[in-house]
Amino acid sequence: MKLFGNSGACSACGQSIPASELVMRAQGNVYHLKCFTCSTCRNRLLPGDRFHYINGSLFCEHDRPTALINSHLSSLQANPLIPDQKVC
Ligand SMILES: [Zn+2]
Ligand SMILES: [Zn+2]
Repeated sequence: MKLFGNSGACSACGQSIPASELVMRAQGNVYHLKCFTCSTCRNRLLPGDRFHYINGSLFCEHDRPTALINSHLSSLQANPLIPDQKVC
């Protein structure tokens, strides 16, 4: 259950993210830097890394599920991670 509907909550842990903190974005969701990890190997995904965002799960470049790739080839693209620096 998602309790937080606003964009200030981490999509992984559900905790709100302080405005001063860097976040990662994927498909409109925001994540703590520490929460932006591969669903398979649990490695942190860092700015500049390529990743796949599939059905709400994150995968690093090496762990993308091949079955899903075959069935949804057109929608799967690796995107560079860009930290979102909030400026007040
Ligand atoms: Zn988090
Ligand atoms: Zn991985």
